[in-house]
Amino acid sequence: MSSGQNSGNRDSLLIAVFRGHSFCLNHYLNYAGGVNPSDLDFLRRALEVAGVARQHGNHPFGAILVDSHGKVLLEAENTVETERDCTGHAELNLMRLASRQYTADFLATCTLYTSTEPCAMCSGAIYWGNVRRVVYGLSEAGLLKLTGDNPANPTLHLPCRVVLGSGQKAIQVVGPLVEDEAAAVHEGFWR
Ligand SMILES: [Zn+2]
Repeated sequence: MSSGQNSGNRDSLLIAVFRGHSFCLNHYLNYAGGVNPSDLDFLRRALEVAGVARQHGNHPFGAILVDSHGKVLLEAENTVETERDCTGHAELNLMRLASRQYTADFLATCTLYTSTEPCAMCSGAIYWGNVRRVVYGLSEAGLLKLTGDNPANPTLHLPCRVVLGSGQKAIQVVGPLVEDEAAAVHEGFWR
């Protein structure tokens, strides 16, 4: 076998590994376990931030960024109404702040907690910002039940696992968790 053939085999192997990785990645992303003892505490803080967003006249969504030592680095509310910004979702606001302050390598070690499953837009921001772990409360499907056809939030029924699993990075997704608590902040808001 010549070195050229070896190289070819190596390329084939890499493709095979990548395909295997993709399969494993999807499996990994669909795994609902992986809840750390502190995850619920941080998630409940994100729910509190969602409540503050509502108090401020915005949609009831909140997100926080936590480092690997359990330190809360950033918190972000939804600002769609007060900023008149259709992209002012909590997770996108958080990722914008995060990428200005931290390197992509550092963000890979952090966890983003969000009151509701990230939409397709925010999942994209999480992907580009390089956060590798996402924990959410209410599912997008659960949110859709609450919002109905409210034109203020025509929920995109596209699971974040589909978006985050379509890239080239392993991103752990945990959720939904404590959906009753996560739904409470929406009570009476949409209809
Ligand atoms: Zn969003």
